[in-house]
Amino acid sequence: LEREEPSHFGAGPAQLPTNVLQQAAKDLVNYQGIGLGIGEISHRSGDATEVIESAKANLRNLMNIPDTHEVFFMQGGGTTGFSSLATNLTAAHVGKTGSKGTAGYLITGSWSAKSLEEAQRLGIDSEAIFNAKDFNNGKFGSIPAESEWAAKLKSKDYSYIYLCENETVHGVEWPQLPRALIDSDVEIVADLSSDILSREIDVSQYGVIMAGAQKNIGLAGLTIYIIKKSILENISSASLDKLRQLGVPITPIAFEYPTVVKNNSAYNTIPIFTLHIIDLVLRQIIAKGGVAAQQKENELKAELLYTALDKYSDFYAVPVAEECRSKMNVVFTLKKEGLDKKFLDEAAALKLTGLKGHRSVGGFRASIYNAVSVESTKTLAQFIEDFASKNA
Ligand code: PLP
Repeated sequence: LEREEPSHFGAGPAQLPTNVLQQAAKDLVNYQGIGLGIGEISHRSGDATEVIESAKANLRNLMNIPDTHEVFFMQGGGTTGFSSLATNLTAAHVGKTGSKGTAGYLITGSWSAKSLEEAQRLGIDSEAIFNAKDFNNGKFGSIPAESEWAAKLKSKDYSYIYLCENETVHGVEWPQLPRALIDSDVEIVADLSSDILSREIDVSQYGVIMAGAQKNIGLAGLTIYIIKKSILENISSASLDKLRQLGVPITPIAFEYPTVVKNNSAYNTIPIFTLHIIDLVLRQIIAKGGVAAQQKENELKAELLYTALDKYSDFYAVPVAEECRSKMNVVFTLKKEGLDKKFLDEAAALKLTGLKGHRSVGGFRASIYNAVSVESTKTLAQFIEDFASKNA
């Protein structure tokens, strides 16, 4: 169960702490000496329930989740979240107000755009509050000022407002939740798939947080939800007849949030091995000093890379405005043509892997999630500088 410590900057599934994987590998074969692996026992057994409870408690502790909010886990990933959020949150609005309202989306990159597309594909009344491309020459890479869009929040009956806190492909991250949203009484629904537990946030400000596990917290297959209890009650108050009458798509039962919560995340078979890995990751962050300590480390890593790129700004381009540069996914390109392969090859020779940019954007992307060490990031920053000075 040994491996050399990786320096893997892939965007996801991402590198996980080696000691977590080693422990998980043992538990996959023989969990706490019971003679069976953690993935081989009933999802409703005492051992599985303990894993669910432990992961919930550790997440509550780490994120300081208030009693007003419930935590649950569901099969699937970010994309399943796009559809389940749209139907559940629209149902909540129906339960609360009797009307379906319109879902508003803040589009800052391809993941928020995909989420809106999915809502529309399902037939949910939904629209963009803004598309950041319209403010940046047709490209993602900045977030418009609140003065450009905040007034729109009052223009109709919005069922919820959706944003993606960190756009993994384009490297655009909301520096904080926009004031206009916090001050409005519309529920904020946020995709934290690629920045959950990377920095401290105030959970009480969110209606729902959704995060696929495979970047900062574990393996693919499970998604974390943190939801206001009042939203769960509102979903439950919307009758199927009423939803049908309004033309709101009915949520498939395995993705219906109140059903999942009532069954302690085990309405259907939860991938308990995947959840166990999440729990091990959570425990490790706690041992490290919590999210505050992790945030400090992440800020240092991001600074190392952006400083190196900015130092050689004649050679590298960072297509993201400084105030919303992602601290998780550092996106950059070479200004000179024909050197991309050389960059990747020389990086690989130093065992720096996973740096190729997303196919829709090109260039490079260094994802510096929680498990990527400061040491690996320093090696990459040095390589960025050396490559520029040798090839400029
Ligand atoms: N949201 C964000 C921010 C992502 O980065 C991703 C995947 O990279 C997704 C959603 C989609 O996740 P999945 O592939 O689990 O459906």
